[in-house]
Amino acid sequence: MGDPLQEACGVFGIFAPGLDVARLTFYGLYALQHRGQESAGICTADDGRLRLETGMGLVSQVFNEDLLARLQGGAAIGHTRYSTTGSSRFRNAQPLLMHGHGIDMALAHNGNVVDAQPIRQALEAEGVTFETSTDSEVIGKFLLAQPGTWAQRFARVMQRFHGAYSLVVLTPDRLLAARDPLGVRPLCLGRIDGGYVVASETCALDHIGAELVRSIAPCELVTIDARGWRSEQVATAPSARGCVFEHIYFARPDSVLDGQLVYESRMRMGAELAREHPVEADLVIGVPDSATASAVGYATATGIPYADGLVKNRYVGRTFIQPDQRLRELGVSLKFNPLSQIIAGKRLVVVDDSIVRGTTTPRVIQMLRHAGAREIHMRICAPPIRHPCFFGVDMATRAELIAANLTVPEVAAHIGADSLGYLSLEGLKRAVGVPGDPFCLACFTGDYPVPVQLEMDKLALERAGLSIDGDSPHLVANAAVYSAPGAPEAVRGS
Ligand code: SF4
Repeated sequence: MGDPLQEACGVFGIFAPGLDVARLTFYGLYALQHRGQESAGICTADDGRLRLETGMGLVSQVFNEDLLARLQGGAAIGHTRYSTTGSSRFRNAQPLLMHGHGIDMALAHNGNVVDAQPIRQALEAEGVTFETSTDSEVIGKFLLAQPGTWAQRFARVMQRFHGAYSLVVLTPDRLLAARDPLGVRPLCLGRIDGGYVVASETCALDHIGAELVRSIAPCELVTIDARGWRSEQVATAPSARGCVFEHIYFARPDSVLDGQLVYESRMRMGAELAREHPVEADLVIGVPDSATASAVGYATATGIPYADGLVKNRYVGRTFIQPDQRLRELGVSLKFNPLSQIIAGKRLVVVDDSIVRGTTTPRVIQMLRHAGAREIHMRICAPPIRHPCFFGVDMATRAELIAANLTVPEVAAHIGADSLGYLSLEGLKRAVGVPGDPFCLACFTGDYPVPVQLEMDKLALERAGLSIDGDSPHLVANAAVYSAPGAPEAVRGS
């Protein structure tokens, strides 16, 4: 990854009495660690009680043998968090434990809801109190406040909440898993030794020896209890709009998303890039790990040899773990080491997944030039990112997105590349290869699948320095700001 995108979260759930569900959840979360590194948590259902342990840091930093031994039970859910709403703080770590209307419940959420704030205000007006600043707690408290069966409660969530939410919920006697009407974030169901598992990605099933049953569909509620599992379509799903960045960058290459192995999607992105942006070169390299498969695809399609020109220090983690820009930039040289013996004197095709702010790619190019590369031709597996994401990917404001402000030749000059080629939207769709048009492409096109004006307003207020009260999602500036001269572009829609 050459330029930092901030990440979604990972969720996991298991209902398998007789198995060590806490340990299996630990390994499931370990496989999903790439989706969030700020905090981790596991909650088990044990003899009618929910037991929760959460902490800041990586899964392996939060949990040890003693903690896992305390988490007894026959069912569990877990979460790895990268904060997208709510500050990065211990009490926002998930799963969130809640109680209301006689129900104990733990909830883990992947995604971002675009209209959580007015729903929270409406719940507060009814006397509901909140302990965190997350949209996940708003979903949970709303769920608890609804009358009727779980299917009826989730149906109301689907009607009321817009945005991205793959949810796993644990009660003392059941595990529930649901995916939002657009299916923005992935969620799958698996089978293990007489029990069942749900997870953000199939790689989590593979690591614990579970077998994939299938993806959970948009608007589907899967209930798992002592009688087995059952599925209910609790609302009518519009056409799906899964996040295409799951294929480009977020998901692990060994995960299967909607029937497509991510590694193969990325190979095809490289082949499409080769067709759209051919160039005379001696060697193809990828920026590891997310662009490795695409670089192999580019090399295979052109016949130009492939080599590992950059070696990744695997224990540094993704550069955006450090939210501070200075640390993030330092992180690039901590993360990669160029193989000068391999690349010196060569004309390189360098394949990367995306360019967001354009802060990291110039450092990678500089590093390759210092190692002796003669020419550097950047090839990017995504179209130019010109619009922010409101569905759980904290990529940047529009003003920070380099492609929103510079032309392609200007971006090439800024990053110091000899040439730059972005994959076209059509090429990307062909590469992902899912029939129909089931993807969100809003960060490229600005065509959001749900209204996002409220989130745009929040972003604009934050940029205007009027922001949101530290720990509370209540806006503290009034609407007059929106039409003030020089008001940020996002206010006017983009
Ligand atoms: S806007 Fe971009 S990053 Fe966000 S959900 Fe849509 S495709 Fe994914």
